[in-house]
Amino acid sequence: MSYTLSVLVQTPAHSALAGALSYESELALAPGTLVRVPLGKRDLLGVVWQDADLTGHEPEAMALRPISGVLEGMAPLNRQWRELVNFAARYYQRSCGEVALSALPPQLRDLTLAQVARKLQSKSRPLAATKEPLVAPPGAPLEQGSEPIGTDAGVTPSDEQTLVLSELATQSGPFLLYGATGSGKTEVYLRSVQQLLAQDPNAQALVMVPEINLTPQLLARFTQRFGTQHGPAGVVCMHSGMTPAQRLNGWLMAHTGAARIVLGTRMAIFASMPHLKLIVVDEEHDPSYKQQEGSRYSARDLAVYRGRLEGARVILGSATPSLESWHLSRPGAQGGRYQRLLMPSRIGEGQLPWVRRVDMNHQPKGAVISAPLLEAIKTRIARGEQSMVFLNRRGYAPVLQCHSCDWKSECPHCSAFRVFHKIDRTLRCHHCGLTDRVPRACPACGDLDIAPIGRGTEQLEEHLAQLLAEVRRPATALAQAGTAVRIARIDADSNRKKGHLQTQLAQVHAGEVDVLVGTQMIAKGHDFRRITLVAAINPDGVLFSSDFRAPERLFSLLMQAGGRAGRERDFSERSEMWVQTFYPQHPLFVALKSHDYPAFAQQQLKQREQANLPPFSSQALVRAEARSQQAAQDFLMAARASAAQLADLPGFDRITLYPAVPMSMQRIANVERAQMLIESPSRTALQRFLSAWHTLLQATRALPEHKGLIRWAVDVDPLAI
Ligand code: ADP
Ligand code: ZN
Ligand code: ZN
Repeated sequence: MSYTLSVLVQTPAHSALAGALSYESELALAPGTLVRVPLGKRDLLGVVWQDADLTGHEPEAMALRPISGVLEGMAPLNRQWRELVNFAARYYQRSCGEVALSALPPQLRDLTLAQVARKLQSKSRPLAATKEPLVAPPGAPLEQGSEPIGTDAGVTPSDEQTLVLSELATQSGPFLLYGATGSGKTEVYLRSVQQLLAQDPNAQALVMVPEINLTPQLLARFTQRFGTQHGPAGVVCMHSGMTPAQRLNGWLMAHTGAARIVLGTRMAIFASMPHLKLIVVDEEHDPSYKQQEGSRYSARDLAVYRGRLEGARVILGSATPSLESWHLSRPGAQGGRYQRLLMPSRIGEGQLPWVRRVDMNHQPKGAVISAPLLEAIKTRIARGEQSMVFLNRRGYAPVLQCHSCDWKSECPHCSAFRVFHKIDRTLRCHHCGLTDRVPRACPACGDLDIAPIGRGTEQLEEHLAQLLAEVRRPATALAQAGTAVRIARIDADSNRKKGHLQTQLAQVHAGEVDVLVGTQMIAKGHDFRRITLVAAINPDGVLFSSDFRAPERLFSLLMQAGGRAGRERDFSERSEMWVQTFYPQHPLFVALKSHDYPAFAQQQLKQREQANLPPFSSQALVRAEARSQQAAQDFLMAARASAAQLADLPGFDRITLYPAVPMSMQRIANVERAQMLIESPSRTALQRFLSAWHTLLQATRALPEHKGLIRWAVDVDPLAI
């Protein structure tokens, strides 16, 4: 007797093999079983899938090849996991095979059956005997927590924490925990996890953190709290910095249920956790939750979906929630679906920093560091404290501005700014596609002084060194008086060399650095206890970015940066956050001044509503890459034309397809990139349209006139347009 199995394998994006493949098996294998199957000359890992879930199943009644083998001793991936994969594939327009297989640890795919069997066997031996550290921060050996097992560090929850914890215990969520930096959110996560594990001897918790926040400090906090009370594999990690062997180990521990807590970055949302009862998404607004290649999923959004599938509680936490989550947590009577929990106060005396706006209109033309800011930095140096100076985020789309009359390259049709494309000196609206040549002179006043907003800070480090050349550090235990000021720079460029970041950070922590210069990466995740001044040098470009999410990111970045400053209680003076701007009255800075995220959110949401932008509409992008810009755009325009065939689809009239435009990073490594925006006030209509359109996109791609196309992909809920 033989059975026909549907098996998912890793298939190239958009290939004709996108569905499951059929194989023959002597055994009836349950869906979710991991198998090895032959494909062409290769032998691949596959997952047995359910026919009913699939489309594109091969109909041929040809002789089927038998599977090569079963991964023995491994429980099948459960129904919820498979449903999560099906949903993610459908929603993000990818194949189930791609989503399922890329969610499994690479070693599981690469090892032979015999090798996997050996690994599994070594796992079933007493766990203490495994040599591989199960919890391993990137590059650093695990330090055993010295705290006695199961302590809660002697901390008594604050009133706000107590209230929030009781809501979390009695309500069903999903929850948005909106709490100031330092309000004790992490403590709330720790306690929720602790409560759950104590109550239910099998329950598992998934704690997700942004890419950059998976610091040894945070890990230490979890391992210290939970130690080995849930077995040596009680807490495992999942992130891309781990070795393949560590990833497989962690994955197996989660899959077998031995790991009670999985701590990971966005990839962890696909961890197989048979007893998942709680999902925490810390810093839920962080863009790193959105995968930027392959299946471009949002781990935060999938967390909410998975919570529902598993019947698990979901806690999204942030001091500056994404406007999507904030909007979703409006009162239920107004349509909110998340429950908003508040922790406005900081623990202890730690006050939020004093925000100072420097009006650059009153500074000498071309000034990079204003005189008052320079004085403030010098004062910090004299006191032996540190300052953090950060630059604009790189790579935001540049908008043109007239320096005489304040004209900006607005789109006459959209509430968006048109982007300056240097390559062909055009201004293009990334929303509606309107394109003009860059005007020679300002269209409003005729002045010739038009230039991209927010440039001219590249040399900041050198410039600061000049300004501080005469300044000397005070005498401390570490350094003798009279030495020169030390400036360190941290950004993507300075960070290419491995270990460089760690060294720089260690120097900052040791107090060897007086001024830290960098991009937004320095503002996140790190606890700089000796920094008492944070300054944003030139954030204006972000206010007028063509990217409608740019202000949201800037606000969150500044709040976070400010929140990081001055956590050391020894520094009696309140820490300061400086912003140099030509627009001190901009609502973003006004809200920042009073640390008023709700006011900021309200203002932004009103604008978004008026402009029909998310969360009041849904978007998707189709991106295309080709050797020439023309070829990339031709494909998109042909795809756009093909959509007319779907006119009968319910909700088609609610879909807007905009023309193709070059991306703001138009050419990378000689590959031209273009994109096309699709928008709808209805998520359902957009989803229905995208699913139906997918085949037409594939057919368009197959036409001989588009053979110059290198690749194309759909990005659902894109973070930047
Ligand atoms: P958040 O995650 O909101 O930034 P944390 O949980 O990291 O806040 O808390 C900030 C600091 O306050 C940490 O050092 C933490 O150990 C401490 N803390 C948290 N809750 C309490 C409490 N109830 N009593 C005393 N200290 C606390
Ligand atoms: Zn002008
Ligand atoms: Zn426009």
